[in-house]
Amino acid sequence: MQQPSTLSGLILQLCEVGEMSVKGGLVLASGGNLSARLPGSEVFAVTGSGTWLDRLTPDDFAIMNLEGALLSGPAPSSEWKLHQRTYQVRPDVNSVIHLHPQHAVLLDALGHKIRLITLDHAYYVKSVGSVPYYPNGSDELADLSAEQCLEHNCLILSNHGCSAIGPDISMAYRRALNLEEASIATFRALCLGDAATTFPPESFADLHHS
Ligand SMILES: [Zn+2]
Repeated sequence: MQQPSTLSGLILQLCEVGEMSVKGGLVLASGGNLSARLPGSEVFAVTGSGTWLDRLTPDDFAIMNLEGALLSGPAPSSEWKLHQRTYQVRPDVNSVIHLHPQHAVLLDALGHKIRLITLDHAYYVKSVGSVPYYPNGSDELADLSAEQCLEHNCLILSNHGCSAIGPDISMAYRRALNLEEASIATFRALCLGDAATTFPPESFADLHHS
């Protein structure tokens, strides 16, 4: 995935990520929402209210500023504040991928910690934050997520979904993918009776991924 240099280029990339997310089972139909901005921009594009992530077109995106004003396009997703507040506190973040991955949400709901087991999990996810359940679209959910994003690039929104962030769409999406893969691996390990295995903690410090 190349880094687009225009907002419309970013929107096309988000359409692609939406389709891959549904096909990959990370979200069903109209659940979840995606956003991106050009590096350092005060303006971001976010999926519109009620859009289906596997059928996105450029007309489905709301263009908003960091104050939360709608500049153009349809009404934004009810969860737009989650995106806005994250960009406000993380100037280095240029994409927020919010999906409803089944294994990640289930493990969290059952009180299991999501374990990072492989090199990819450790490199892409690194650490997992958690936000207690609040209704979607609420200020509490958006504000607590933003607070957790100061420490983590992957969050579980309890009984709801995940938020994965990154310097670009490609990294945010790969983090979301690896968060769910780590959750599936943890689920399988638990099924096999293993409750402890992780990536070697002493190897975290010198991760160099190619
Ligand atoms: Zn959601």
